[in-house]
Amino acid sequence: MTAAVTLDGVGCTFGHGAGAVRAVDGVDLTIAAGEFFTLLGPSGSGKTTVLRMIGGFTLPTAGRVWIGGQDVTLAPPYARAVNTVFQDYALFPHMSIRDNVAYPLMVRKVDRATRERRAEELLALVQLPGVGARRPAQLSGGQRQRVALARALISEPQVLLLDEPLGALDLKLREQMQSELKALQRRLGITFLFITHDQHEALSMSDRIGIFNAGRLEQLGTPRQVYDTPATRFVAHFVGAANVLEGEAARSLTGHAQAMLRPERITLGEAVGARAAGPVCEVQFFGAFTRIKVETAGTRVQADLPLAPGAVMPEPGQTVHLHWNNGAVHALSAAA
Ligand code: ADP
Ligand code: MG
Repeated sequence: MTAAVTLDGVGCTFGHGAGAVRAVDGVDLTIAAGEFFTLLGPSGSGKTTVLRMIGGFTLPTAGRVWIGGQDVTLAPPYARAVNTVFQDYALFPHMSIRDNVAYPLMVRKVDRATRERRAEELLALVQLPGVGARRPAQLSGGQRQRVALARALISEPQVLLLDEPLGALDLKLREQMQSELKALQRRLGITFLFITHDQHEALSMSDRIGIFNAGRLEQLGTPRQVYDTPATRFVAHFVGAANVLEGEAARSLTGHAQAMLRPERITLGEAVGARAAGPVCEVQFFGAFTRIKVETAGTRVQADLPLAPGAVMPEPGQTVHLHWNNGAVHALSAAA
Protein backbone atom coordinates (compact mmCIF):
# COMPACT_ATOMS: atom_id res chain seq x y z
CA MET A 1 0.00 0.00 0.00
CA THR A 2 1.34 3.44 -0.92
CA ALA A 3 0.67 5.83 1.93
CA ALA A 4 -0.77 9.20 0.96
CA VAL A 5 -0.92 10.48 4.54
CA THR A 6 0.55 9.04 7.72
CA LEU A 7 -0.07 10.35 11.22
CA ASP A 8 2.34 9.02 13.80
CA GLY A 9 1.30 9.68 17.40
CA VAL A 10 -0.12 13.07 16.41
CA GLY A 11 -1.52 15.25 19.16
CA CYS A 12 -2.55 18.85 19.61
CA THR A 13 -3.08 20.68 22.88
CA PHE A 14 -4.33 24.28 22.84
CA GLY A 15 -3.30 26.54 25.71
CA HIS A 16 -1.35 25.72 28.86
CA GLY A 17 -1.90 24.61 32.43
CA ALA A 18 -5.41 24.25 33.87
CA GLY A 19 -7.07 25.81 30.80
CA ALA A 20 -5.36 23.51 28.29
CA VAL A 21 -7.58 21.69 25.78
CA ARG A 22 -6.28 18.40 24.42
CA ALA A 23 -8.05 18.58 21.06
CA VAL A 24 -6.25 15.62 19.47
CA ASP A 25 -4.62 12.88 21.50
CA GLY A 26 -2.09 10.42 20.05
CA VAL A 27 -3.60 9.59 16.64
CA ASP A 28 -1.95 6.90 14.50
CA LEU A 29 -3.39 6.63 11.01
CA THR A 30 -2.33 5.70 7.50
CA ILE A 31 -4.45 6.72 4.52
CA ALA A 32 -3.72 4.87 1.28
CA ALA A 33 -3.18 6.63 -2.04
CA GLY A 34 -6.47 6.86 -3.93
CA GLU A 35 -8.54 6.12 -0.87
CA PHE A 36 -11.76 7.91 0.08
CA PHE A 37 -11.20 8.17 3.82
CA THR A 38 -13.70 9.77 6.19
CA LEU A 39 -13.19 11.06 9.70
CA LEU A 40 -16.56 10.78 11.39
CA GLY A 41 -17.25 12.18 14.83
CA PRO A 42 -19.41 14.56 16.84
CA SER A 43 -18.87 18.30 16.92
CA GLY A 44 -15.84 19.23 19.06
CA SER A 45 -14.20 15.80 18.79
CA GLY A 46 -11.07 17.18 17.06
CA LYS A 47 -11.73 16.42 13.37
CA THR A 48 -10.96 19.90 12.05
CA THR A 49 -7.79 20.06 14.14
CA VAL A 50 -6.56 16.81 12.52
CA LEU A 51 -7.28 18.24 9.08
CA ARG A 52 -5.55 21.54 9.90
CA MET A 53 -2.45 19.65 11.05
CA ILE A 54 -2.34 17.74 7.76
CA GLY A 55 -2.90 20.95 5.79
CA GLY A 56 -0.23 22.78 7.78
CA PHE A 57 -2.54 25.42 9.31
CA THR A 58 -2.03 24.14 12.87
CA LEU A 59 1.22 22.65 14.18
CA PRO A 60 1.00 19.42 16.19
CA THR A 61 2.27 19.53 19.76
CA ALA A 62 3.16 15.81 19.51
CA GLY A 63 3.97 13.31 16.77
CA ARG A 64 4.83 13.50 13.09
CA VAL A 65 2.81 14.12 9.88
CA TRP A 66 3.87 12.49 6.61
CA ILE A 67 2.48 13.25 3.14
CA GLY A 68 3.53 11.10 0.19
CA GLY A 69 6.49 9.67 2.11
CA GLN A 70 7.78 13.07 3.21
CA ASP A 71 7.89 14.32 6.79
CA VAL A 72 5.99 17.62 6.58
CA THR A 73 5.35 18.09 10.30
CA LEU A 74 6.83 21.61 10.31
CA ALA A 75 6.33 22.47 6.61
CA PRO A 76 4.13 25.48 5.74
CA PRO A 77 0.80 24.88 3.92
CA TYR A 78 2.09 25.91 0.48
CA ALA A 79 4.89 23.32 0.64
CA ARG A 80 2.45 20.41 1.06
CA ALA A 81 0.85 18.42 -1.77
CA VAL A 82 -2.60 18.90 -0.25
CA ASN A 83 -5.48 21.31 -0.74
CA THR A 84 -8.40 22.07 1.50
CA VAL A 85 -12.09 22.67 0.80
CA PHE A 86 -13.74 24.41 3.73
CA GLN A 87 -17.40 24.33 4.71
CA ASP A 88 -17.91 28.05 4.09
CA TYR A 89 -16.47 27.88 0.51
CA ALA A 90 -14.24 30.94 1.12
CA LEU A 91 -14.63 32.32 -2.42
CA PHE A 92 -13.54 35.88 -3.19
CA PRO A 93 -16.82 37.80 -3.68
CA HIS A 94 -15.39 40.56 -5.89
CA MET A 95 -13.74 38.13 -8.35
CA SER A 96 -15.36 36.30 -11.24
CA ILE A 97 -15.91 32.56 -10.90
CA ARG A 98 -13.17 31.96 -13.48
CA ASP A 99 -10.66 34.06 -11.51
CA ASN A 100 -11.67 32.35 -8.27
CA VAL A 101 -10.96 28.93 -9.77
CA ALA A 102 -7.73 30.13 -11.40
CA TYR A 103 -6.49 31.89 -8.27
CA PRO A 104 -4.00 29.18 -7.18
CA LEU A 105 -2.41 29.36 -10.66
CA MET A 106 -2.22 33.16 -10.50
CA VAL A 107 -0.32 32.90 -7.22
CA ARG A 108 2.12 30.63 -9.04
CA LYS A 109 2.46 33.15 -11.86
CA VAL A 110 1.04 30.87 -14.56
CA ASP A 111 0.21 32.93 -17.68
CA ARG A 112 -3.32 34.23 -18.18
CA ALA A 113 -4.24 32.13 -21.25
CA THR A 114 -3.25 28.85 -19.53
CA ARG A 115 -5.05 29.91 -16.33
CA GLU A 116 -8.28 30.63 -18.12
CA ARG A 117 -8.16 27.44 -20.15
CA ARG A 118 -7.53 25.34 -17.00
CA ALA A 119 -10.29 27.16 -15.11
CA GLU A 120 -12.79 26.36 -17.86
CA GLU A 121 -11.67 22.71 -17.85
CA LEU A 122 -12.17 22.48 -14.10
CA LEU A 123 -15.58 24.18 -14.27
CA ALA A 124 -16.62 21.61 -16.87
CA LEU A 125 -15.32 18.83 -14.60
CA VAL A 126 -17.58 19.95 -11.71
CA GLN A 127 -20.44 20.35 -14.18
CA LEU A 128 -20.56 24.12 -14.19
CA PRO A 129 -19.65 25.09 -17.76
CA GLY A 130 -20.39 28.63 -18.86
CA VAL A 131 -20.56 30.36 -15.46
CA GLY A 132 -16.97 31.68 -15.54
CA ALA A 133 -17.94 35.33 -15.98
CA ARG A 134 -20.36 35.40 -13.05
CA ARG A 135 -19.68 36.45 -9.45
CA PRO A 136 -20.11 34.04 -6.48
CA ALA A 137 -23.27 35.89 -5.35
CA GLN A 138 -24.93 34.92 -8.65
CA LEU A 139 -24.64 31.19 -7.93
CA SER A 140 -26.57 28.90 -5.59
CA GLY A 141 -24.97 27.35 -2.51
CA GLY A 142 -24.44 24.03 -4.26
CA GLN A 143 -22.87 25.73 -7.28
CA ARG A 144 -20.55 27.78 -5.05
CA GLN A 145 -19.44 24.59 -3.35
CA ARG A 146 -18.53 23.11 -6.73
CA VAL A 147 -16.55 26.24 -7.58
CA ALA A 148 -14.61 25.79 -4.33
CA LEU A 149 -13.97 22.20 -5.34
CA ALA A 150 -12.75 23.25 -8.80
CA ARG A 151 -10.39 25.77 -7.21
CA ALA A 152 -9.02 23.13 -4.85
CA LEU A 153 -8.45 20.70 -7.75
CA ILE A 154 -6.80 23.12 -10.20
CA SER A 155 -3.37 22.76 -8.63
CA GLU A 156 -3.66 18.95 -8.89
CA PRO A 157 -3.07 18.03 -5.24
CA GLN A 158 -2.22 14.43 -4.30
CA VAL A 159 -4.58 14.75 -1.39
CA LEU A 160 -7.76 16.75 -1.04
CA LEU A 161 -8.90 17.65 2.47
CA LEU A 162 -12.62 18.34 2.76
CA ASP A 163 -13.96 19.75 6.02
CA GLU A 164 -17.74 19.17 6.14
CA PRO A 165 -18.00 20.56 2.60
CA LEU A 166 -21.69 19.68 2.20
CA GLY A 167 -22.82 20.76 5.66
CA ALA A 168 -24.46 23.98 4.51
CA LEU A 169 -26.56 22.35 1.77
CA ASP A 170 -30.12 21.13 2.14
CA LEU A 171 -30.79 17.39 2.15
CA LYS A 172 -31.67 16.81 -1.54
CA LEU A 173 -28.74 18.81 -2.85
CA ARG A 174 -26.42 17.24 -0.30
CA GLU A 175 -27.33 13.75 -1.48
CA GLN A 176 -26.78 14.75 -5.11
CA MET A 177 -23.39 16.30 -4.28
CA GLN A 178 -22.42 13.18 -2.31
CA SER A 179 -22.72 10.96 -5.36
CA GLU A 180 -21.09 13.54 -7.66
CA LEU A 181 -18.17 13.98 -5.29
CA LYS A 182 -17.69 10.25 -4.98
CA ALA A 183 -17.79 9.79 -8.76
CA LEU A 184 -15.28 12.61 -9.24
CA GLN A 185 -12.92 11.11 -6.67
CA ARG A 186 -13.03 7.72 -8.44
CA ARG A 187 -12.42 9.31 -11.82
CA LEU A 188 -9.47 11.47 -10.70
CA GLY A 189 -7.94 8.88 -8.37
CA ILE A 190 -7.03 11.58 -5.84
CA THR A 191 -6.90 10.69 -2.16
CA PHE A 192 -9.82 12.28 -0.31
CA LEU A 193 -9.78 12.94 3.41
CA PHE A 194 -13.36 13.87 4.12
CA ILE A 195 -14.76 15.13 7.41
CA THR A 196 -18.35 14.83 8.50
CA HIS A 197 -20.49 14.42 11.59
CA ASP A 198 -23.19 12.77 9.45
CA GLN A 199 -23.11 8.98 9.74
CA HIS A 200 -25.16 8.44 6.55
CA GLU A 201 -22.75 10.55 4.55
CA ALA A 202 -19.79 8.61 5.98
CA LEU A 203 -21.33 5.19 5.39
CA SER A 204 -22.42 5.89 1.83
CA MET A 205 -19.28 7.59 0.49
CA SER A 206 -16.21 6.10 2.15
CA ASP A 207 -13.76 3.29 1.46
CA ARG A 208 -12.81 3.48 5.14
CA ILE A 209 -14.03 5.44 8.12
CA GLY A 210 -12.18 6.55 11.24
CA ILE A 211 -14.57 7.14 14.13
CA PHE A 212 -13.38 10.04 16.24
CA ASN A 213 -14.37 10.74 19.83
CA ALA A 214 -12.84 13.22 22.27
CA GLY A 215 -9.61 13.60 20.29
CA ARG A 216 -9.04 9.88 19.78
CA LEU A 217 -9.68 7.36 17.04
CA GLU A 218 -12.12 4.80 18.47
CA GLN A 219 -12.29 2.57 15.42
CA LEU A 220 -10.94 2.28 11.93
CA GLY A 221 -12.66 0.16 9.31
CA THR A 222 -14.84 -0.17 6.25
CA PRO A 223 -18.39 1.19 6.54
CA ARG A 224 -19.64 -2.38 6.90
CA GLN A 225 -17.11 -3.20 9.66
CA VAL A 226 -17.91 -0.20 11.83
CA TYR A 227 -21.64 -0.74 11.36
CA ASP A 228 -21.74 -4.50 11.92
CA THR A 229 -19.01 -4.83 14.51
CA PRO A 230 -18.58 -1.58 16.42
CA ALA A 231 -15.56 -1.72 18.72
CA THR A 232 -17.11 0.38 21.47
CA ARG A 233 -20.45 1.54 22.87
CA PHE A 234 -19.72 4.97 21.48
CA VAL A 235 -19.31 3.64 17.94
CA ALA A 236 -22.42 1.45 18.28
CA HIS A 237 -24.50 4.51 19.20
CA PHE A 238 -22.88 6.99 16.84
CA VAL A 239 -23.07 4.89 13.67
CA GLY A 240 -26.68 3.94 13.08
CA ALA A 241 -29.37 3.26 15.64
CA ALA A 242 -28.50 0.65 18.25
CA ASN A 243 -29.86 -1.17 21.26
CA VAL A 244 -26.89 -1.31 23.61
CA LEU A 245 -27.79 -3.81 26.32
CA GLU A 246 -26.02 -4.01 29.66
CA GLY A 247 -26.26 -5.82 32.97
CA GLU A 248 -29.18 -8.16 33.59
CA ALA A 249 -30.96 -7.20 30.35
CA ALA A 250 -27.86 -8.07 28.32
CA ARG A 251 -27.40 -11.39 30.11
CA SER A 252 -31.02 -12.51 29.85
CA LEU A 253 -31.59 -11.35 26.26
CA THR A 254 -28.20 -12.11 24.68
CA GLY A 255 -26.08 -14.12 27.11
CA HIS A 256 -23.35 -11.46 27.01
CA ALA A 257 -22.30 -8.89 29.62
CA GLN A 258 -22.71 -6.10 27.07
CA ALA A 259 -24.15 -6.42 23.59
CA MET A 260 -25.51 -4.50 20.65
CA LEU A 261 -28.61 -5.38 18.67
CA ARG A 262 -29.55 -3.30 15.63
CA PRO A 263 -33.26 -2.33 15.57
CA GLU A 264 -33.71 -3.51 11.95
CA ARG A 265 -32.60 -7.04 12.88
CA ILE A 266 -35.66 -7.48 15.13
CA THR A 267 -38.97 -8.79 13.80
CA LEU A 268 -42.38 -9.34 15.38
CA GLY A 269 -43.82 -12.84 15.55
CA GLU A 270 -45.48 -15.58 17.54
CA ALA A 271 -45.07 -16.15 21.27
CA VAL A 272 -43.48 -19.50 20.45
CA GLY A 273 -39.74 -19.13 19.99
CA ALA A 274 -39.73 -15.41 20.89
CA ARG A 275 -36.56 -13.93 22.41
CA ALA A 276 -38.49 -11.31 24.33
CA ALA A 277 -42.01 -10.03 24.92
CA GLY A 278 -43.55 -6.91 26.37
CA PRO A 279 -45.80 -3.92 25.86
CA VAL A 280 -45.15 -1.35 23.15
CA CYS A 281 -44.53 1.99 24.83
CA GLU A 282 -43.82 4.14 21.80
CA VAL A 283 -44.57 4.08 18.06
CA GLN A 284 -42.85 6.48 15.63
CA PHE A 285 -43.61 6.55 11.91
CA PHE A 286 -40.53 7.28 9.71
CA GLY A 287 -41.94 6.49 6.26
CA ALA A 288 -39.88 3.52 5.08
CA PHE A 289 -40.05 1.98 8.54
CA THR A 290 -41.84 2.34 11.85
CA ARG A 291 -39.80 2.44 15.06
CA ILE A 292 -41.38 0.86 18.13
CA LYS A 293 -40.05 0.74 21.68
CA VAL A 294 -40.88 -2.32 23.73
CA GLU A 295 -40.52 -2.71 27.49
CA THR A 296 -38.85 -6.00 28.26
CA ALA A 297 -36.24 -7.46 30.65
CA GLY A 298 -36.22 -4.23 32.63
CA THR A 299 -35.16 -2.15 29.64
CA ARG A 300 -36.54 -0.69 26.42
CA VAL A 301 -35.74 -2.41 23.16
CA GLN A 302 -36.18 -0.52 19.90
CA ALA A 303 -37.27 -2.34 16.74
CA ASP A 304 -37.52 -0.90 13.21
CA LEU A 305 -40.30 -2.54 11.24
CA PRO A 306 -40.23 -2.07 7.46
CA LEU A 307 -43.34 -0.74 5.78
CA ALA A 308 -44.03 -3.94 3.85
CA PRO A 309 -47.21 -4.18 1.74
CA GLY A 310 -50.18 -4.79 4.02
CA ALA A 311 -48.08 -4.45 7.19
CA VAL A 312 -50.13 -3.63 10.28
CA MET A 313 -48.14 -1.74 12.91
CA PRO A 314 -48.72 -2.39 16.61
CA GLU A 315 -50.42 0.17 18.83
CA PRO A 316 -49.00 1.58 22.06
CA GLY A 317 -49.90 -0.70 24.98
CA GLN A 318 -50.17 -3.81 22.80
CA THR A 319 -48.00 -6.77 23.85
CA VAL A 320 -45.63 -7.96 21.12
CA HIS A 321 -43.16 -10.82 20.75
CA LEU A 322 -39.67 -10.04 19.48
CA HIS A 323 -37.59 -12.38 17.35
CA TRP A 324 -34.01 -12.19 16.12
CA ASN A 325 -31.27 -14.51 14.88
CA ASN A 326 -28.15 -15.29 16.90
CA GLY A 327 -26.10 -13.46 14.28
CA ALA A 328 -27.95 -10.22 15.05
CA VAL A 329 -26.25 -9.92 18.44
CA HIS A 330 -22.81 -8.32 18.58
CA ALA A 331 -20.99 -8.66 21.92
CA LEU A 332 -19.30 -5.48 23.11
CA SER A 333 -16.21 -5.75 25.27
CA ALA A 334 -17.08 -4.68 28.82
CA ALA A 335 -14.09 -2.33 29.06
CA ALA A 336 -15.42 -0.24 26.21
P1 ADP B 1 -14.51 19.23 15.35
O1 ADP B 1 -13.98 19.68 14.03
O2 ADP B 1 -14.58 17.75 15.50
O3 ADP B 1 -15.82 19.88 15.68
P2 ADP B 1 -12.31 20.80 16.45
O4 ADP B 1 -11.07 20.18 15.95
O5 ADP B 1 -12.76 22.05 15.77
O6 ADP B 1 -13.47 19.70 16.50
O7 ADP B 1 -12.12 21.13 18.00
C1 ADP B 1 -11.69 20.20 18.95
C2 ADP B 1 -11.50 20.89 20.29
O8 ADP B 1 -10.43 21.82 20.24
C3 ADP B 1 -12.72 21.67 20.75
O9 ADP B 1 -12.84 21.54 22.14
C4 ADP B 1 -12.37 23.09 20.35
O10 ADP B 1 -13.03 24.00 21.17
C5 ADP B 1 -10.87 23.12 20.57
N1 ADP B 1 -10.18 24.07 19.69
C6 ADP B 1 -10.14 24.01 18.34
N2 ADP B 1 -9.39 25.01 17.84
C7 ADP B 1 -8.93 25.72 18.91
C8 ADP B 1 -8.08 26.87 19.06
N3 ADP B 1 -7.55 27.49 18.00
N4 ADP B 1 -7.84 27.31 20.32
C9 ADP B 1 -8.35 26.68 21.38
N5 ADP B 1 -9.15 25.59 21.32
C10 ADP B 1 -9.44 25.11 20.10
MG1 MG C 1 -14.92 20.85 12.57
